[in-house]
Amino acid sequence: MPPTRVHQALVVENRDAGKGYFRIVLRAPALAGRARPGHFVMLRVSENLDPLLGRPFGIAAVRSRRDIELYYRVVGRGTSLLTQVRAGASLAVHGPLGIFSVHPTGRLQLP
Ligand SMILES: Cc1cc2nc3c(=O)[nH]c(=O)nc-3n(C[C@H](O)[C@H](O)[C@H](O)COP(=O)(O)OP(=O)(O)OC[C@H]3O[C@@H](n4cnc5c(N)ncnc54)[C@H](O)[C@@H]3O)c2cc1C
Repeated sequence: MPPTRVHQALVVENRDAGKGYFRIVLRAPALAGRARPGHFVMLRVSENLDPLLGRPFGIAAVRSRRDIELYYRVVGRGTSLLTQVRAGASLAVHGPLGIFSVHPTGRLQLP
């Protein structure tokens, strides 16, 4: 497991990807250099302290060893707030964290 820490990421893009999903690209070279698709991160969904806790999202892709790409479905308050974040914003992101998988029962499993 690579070393993990909180990074300050620049939002490069945050767009509606259709079917209830958004695509967000975060520039965080120190994180992207260690991450690989399938790791997850805890992403703060706004630049202020509300909500206090980050939300977990899987890394879909790592671009040029400096950007990570995530896809998120809008389900509640946190993900709704995240849709309001514009390119140029700075978000705290903790990771890379473990790789999760889906158990045959449908539950998420963390290593
Ligand atoms: C390890 C891990 C990786 C994840 N990776 C991704 C990812 O790559 N992309 C992604 O879109 N989501 C992912 N999720 C789920 C994502 O973290 C949640 O959807 C998100 O935290 C919801 O935050 P919220 O504040 O918008 O919703 P909340 O306010 O926390 O929840 C609002 C309502 O939605 C319900 N809800 C919460 N999550 C879901 C859900 N996933 N499906 C249906 N209903 C839900 C709650 O029960 C509640 O009723 C991942 C979760 C885990 C544990």
